[in-house]
Amino acid sequence: AYIYALPYELYQKHGIRKYGFHGTSHKYVSQKVAEVMGKDIKDLKIITCHLGNGASLCAVKNGVSVDTSMGFTPLEGVAMGTRCGNIDPAIVTFLMKEEGLSADEVNDLMNKKSGVLGVSGISSDFRDIEDGAFKDKDPRAILALKVFEYKVRATIGSYAAIMGGVDAIVFTAGLGENNIVVREQVLNHFGYMGITLDKEANQIRGEEKIISTPDSKVTVAVIPTNEELAIAHETVALLK
Ligand code: AMP
Repeated sequence: AYIYALPYELYQKHGIRKYGFHGTSHKYVSQKVAEVMGKDIKDLKIITCHLGNGASLCAVKNGVSVDTSMGFTPLEGVAMGTRCGNIDPAIVTFLMKEEGLSADEVNDLMNKKSGVLGVSGISSDFRDIEDGAFKDKDPRAILALKVFEYKVRATIGSYAAIMGGVDAIVFTAGLGENNIVVREQVLNHFGYMGITLDKEANQIRGEEKIISTPDSKVTVAVIPTNEELAIAHETVALLK
C-alpha cells in the first residue's frame, strides 16, 4: 500500500513512499471506538475519518493501519480546506508549462489555494461553505461540498474493499466532530453495505456518540480526537 508505482530506485534513494499523517489521531479514535463497542481492536475493521482543515482517512485492520489517504506529504488523499488532494499528476507539468508556474508556485497553489477554497472561491472554512451552499444557494459552494463528500465516500469504499469489509466508521476532528451535514451526505450512500445512520443521533457536535441505528451492520461513531493525550501515552510508553 505504501509503494508508489515510480521507478523503485527513487524509493531506495529518496525514501519516496506513502508515510501518512494524523497517525496519533487515527490511533486514538480507533482504540476508543473499539472500547465504546466493547470489542477487542484486534477483531475489528475500522475506517477512521479525520476531517478537519487537513483531512485524512485510515483503514485499521485488526489494530494495524493498513492504508491511509495522505502520502509522501499531506497533499495526497481527499480534497481539504486548501489542499487539492489526489489529482492527475500530469496537471503539475501542465500548469508549469501553460501557466508558466515554478515548482514552488505549483506547490503553493496545490497546498494553499485549492481544496474547498479553490473550488468555492469563498473560504476554506466549511461553516462559510455551508452558509454559501444552503443560505445563498451559491453553485460553487454546493459544488465544493459535493467534491469533498465524493472523495471521502470514495476513500471509505476503497478501504472497505481493501479490508474485505468494515465494522466501524469513526468521524473526528473539526469537521468530523461538528459537521452534521457532511456526515449525513457521506454516509447516505452506503445502504448497500448495511450502514444505517440514525439521523436524530447525528444531530450532535463535539460529543462522543454512536450515530448509527442499533440494527446497522456497521457502527458509526463520532469520537472527539485527543492528540495531546495520545502523545502523552506514547511518551510514557517510550520512557518505560
Ligand atoms: P480542524 O482543522 O480540525 O480544526 O477543523 C477545522 C474545520 O472544522 C473548519 O472547516 C470548520 O468549519 C470545522 N468546524 C470546527 N468547529 C466547528 C463547528 N462548531 N461547527 C461546524 N464546523 C466546525
